[in-house]
Amino acid sequence: MLQLAKYSFGVGDRFAHQASAQLRAFEQIRRDGVDVIPVWNKSNREHSFIGSEPASVLKAAKKAVEQANWDLPWHIDADHIRLETVDRFLDSSDFFTIDVADSIGKPPERNHLATFLKNHSELFGTLHIPGIEDPIRISGDGLELIAEKYLAAAKEAGEIYRHIVHAKGAENIIAEVSMDETDAPQTPQELLVILAALSDEGVSLQTIAPKFTGRFNKGVDYEGNLVQFEKEFNDDLCILAHASKVYGLPDNLKLSVHSGSDKFSIYPIIQRALQKTGAGLHIKTAGTTWLEELIGLAESGSDGVQCVHEIYAAALDQIDALTGPYASVIDIHRDKLPSISTVAQWDSKRWANTLRHIPNHPEFNASVRQLLHVSFKLAAKRGDSYLDLLDKHRDIIAKNVYENIYDRHMRPLFLRSN
Ligand SMILES: [Zn+2]
Repeated sequence: MLQLAKYSFGVGDRFAHQASAQLRAFEQIRRDGVDVIPVWNKSNREHSFIGSEPASVLKAAKKAVEQANWDLPWHIDADHIRLETVDRFLDSSDFFTIDVADSIGKPPERNHLATFLKNHSELFGTLHIPGIEDPIRISGDGLELIAEKYLAAAKEAGEIYRHIVHAKGAENIIAEVSMDETDAPQTPQELLVILAALSDEGVSLQTIAPKFTGRFNKGVDYEGNLVQFEKEFNDDLCILAHASKVYGLPDNLKLSVHSGSDKFSIYPIIQRALQKTGAGLHIKTAGTTWLEELIGLAESGSDGVQCVHEIYAAALDQIDALTGPYASVIDIHRDKLPSISTVAQWDSKRWANTLRHIPNHPEFNASVRQLLHVSFKLAAKRGDSYLDLLDKHRDIIAKNVYENIYDRHMRPLFLRSN
């Protein structure tokens, strides 16, 4: 049985050039005494924007782990797949993020609802979940409402899961179920009902990605109520531990945080919760590495900084088309975007300070960062001329990629003192 380890970390490598630099961060945290398993993730949307194939992710990762003699597991995540998109990922992935967010709220079949309510009387009333201070209460009507909202999504997860299992064998895959790309966060009560329903569908999931409270905008810090997030995150951990026992789900079942990269202010909360409970974690980042490519190019000067400048100019020009698909996960203040003539005066250092995610740096600009975060398509359009620059300035880019993942993400998440 392919088992996902206790701590795993999803990295994105949009142009398949940074796997070695990323892996160096995993090697360092391992030397610090914490094993964190790399998972290279790329969604169907990213592949179609870039024009790449899933096999390229496997190839780049394989080369990096072989060169580094990495002898712990590593995985390739078919990120946010659905029944209509999963097939092209079957050969090259061993981790499947089954996205059923679009089916939340679809009415379930009447029989399905009635059977679920009949079989799950344990979910009515007052539930004492170990670790959660106040007992959870779910009324009969409340349970019916939650079941109505999520049963169709659970059923769809079952269909996709069985499709993957049929192709690859249950023992060769790691399944995640994601419900994060939706409007309303899921409460701990809802998470419990969802897990019961997924168990009924026979989905042997090892991670689940709920939508948490607050905003998870692309590439910038968390915005929301940290006290509420902490309570919710801790309650969710308790729900998972309880559900894995009661519903026979894998005992390594853990939360997956689809971070949209760089949610620094919740990292200490997550770290405390993991230390306190001994729970595992999967955290996904993706676009943060592409931004480090831009920062490295900016720092390299000459043709590198010129490329960043041109991509920014094109991004300003096509801002509506680029930001449209991400409208719900970005918050760009257009009045904070400097004009093309302003940035024409910028040197390497100014560009790097503007983009590098040091939130309290006076030159950091969250709007520029978010705009460029969603503009990777523009680099893809440049084809080999972009890839050649990545090769030419490999070392300075690798340094930025490594430091970002190790210093700003892994240390605060996994090391006790930082
Ligand atoms: Zn997600």
